[in-house]
Amino acid sequence: METPDVARGTGTAAPRRIATISLHTSPLDQPGTGDAGGMNVYVVEVAKRLAERGVAVDVFTRATSFDQPPEVEMAPGVTVRNIAAGPYGKLDKAALARYLCPFVHGVLRAEAENLAGHYDLVHGHYWLSGQAGWSAARQWGVPLVQSMHTMARVKNMALAEGDTPEPEARVRGEDELVSFSDRLVANTDEEAVQLVNYYGADPDRIATVPPGVDLDVFTPGPRTRSLRRIGLPADAVLLLFVGRVQRLKAPDVLLRAAARLVERAPELRDRLVVAIVGGLSGTGYAEPAHLVELADSLGIADIVRLEPPRSRTELAHYYRAATVTVVPSHSESFGLVAVESQACGTPVVAANVGGLPTAVRDGVSGVLIDGHDPEDYARVLQRVVTEPAGHRRMAAAAVRHAAGLSWSATVDGLLGVYRGSLERQQSRIASCGRV
Ligand code: UDP
Repeated sequence: METPDVARGTGTAAPRRIATISLHTSPLDQPGTGDAGGMNVYVVEVAKRLAERGVAVDVFTRATSFDQPPEVEMAPGVTVRNIAAGPYGKLDKAALARYLCPFVHGVLRAEAENLAGHYDLVHGHYWLSGQAGWSAARQWGVPLVQSMHTMARVKNMALAEGDTPEPEARVRGEDELVSFSDRLVANTDEEAVQLVNYYGADPDRIATVPPGVDLDVFTPGPRTRSLRRIGLPADAVLLLFVGRVQRLKAPDVLLRAAARLVERAPELRDRLVVAIVGGLSGTGYAEPAHLVELADSLGIADIVRLEPPRSRTELAHYYRAATVTVVPSHSESFGLVAVESQACGTPVVAANVGGLPTAVRDGVSGVLIDGHDPEDYARVLQRVVTEPAGHRRMAAAAVRHAAGLSWSATVDGLLGVYRGSLERQQSRIASCGRV
């Protein structure tokens, strides 16, 4: 597997302009609900920092309403281009595959009409964007760099009970992208191995570039102030879940664990609060009341707070106020929430799946748990919340661990990948000229 250092084309200039494709969700959407999550945060944070380093970024996304302007300046050097493709309104991801052609047509037309110049490279995010990006990159004769974010074969192996498997069309689409992308970017070494083992990817075309965290927004701060800010008393013991409320993220495991914790340590009952911050997404929790009903049946409805999606600055207060952030997901490509929590000085108890072993240092900045047995979570949570010295140690280690995962380092890695792709393309062109 290539590291960005190896992939870096040392003598090659960085791209001047890139086209980033984020077809199914806009970087302007609020993350934490519907189809907007970590990938949106990734696209926004990377685009802003690339632009700061002189690489102009156009993010192409599908227009979802008639009154959206065709282009929006998201930050200096970053333009969001809303491409009309298919009916307005939110569409199911499965339906979006039908509108790839009009989307690609819109992207090509926007480029042809744009006076700012051509794109040096295309970066696709998620398989649908990759499919669109591949056509555009071929038309423009530039490299395609692809980030999968999640992969159907991997997801299908870790489905939560009642979840619908990812469709065969997605699997085939991902197979194609693995064959035709110039470079694949994996969030973790584990994802790189999955690309090789489950998709037959060529290890030499994969670079691992971990995502990051905004270390200016997610900072440690006075806990009591943040508790007050979110309306909780200074002695509250807060178990926090942040993210899209879907079966795959297993908020139900947290609720069941909290109920067991109350049984194991009844003295915590009066101070314990479980906050679930985020909106509904995907299949499984059609009724917003589902978690309320579950909490009710577990006898803990009075200590559970369901909160709507919050802005990033507001989220920082939740993380600082929390005693521990719980990420019990069945599958997680990386787990930005885990890193954000640690950057705010709050340890994480997480499932030992996907990117979470990279995001959390087991036994140091948090605890990883195999499986999803609520009893296991309750046991670990009891230890973490009732041993102040251990908690303090983990909190300090959490801040240190998160400090090594900045978006700036992500952009360093990506620029290396971009340069490497451009260099390879130039040598391909040069060798064709010699024939
Ligand atoms: N998020 C947010 N507001 C919310 C809930 C979540 O901004 O109310 C953000 C969260 O801070 C994180 C992202 O949504 O950056 C979720 O990313 P993660 O990698 O944890 O999960 P994904 O959505 O990619 O599955």
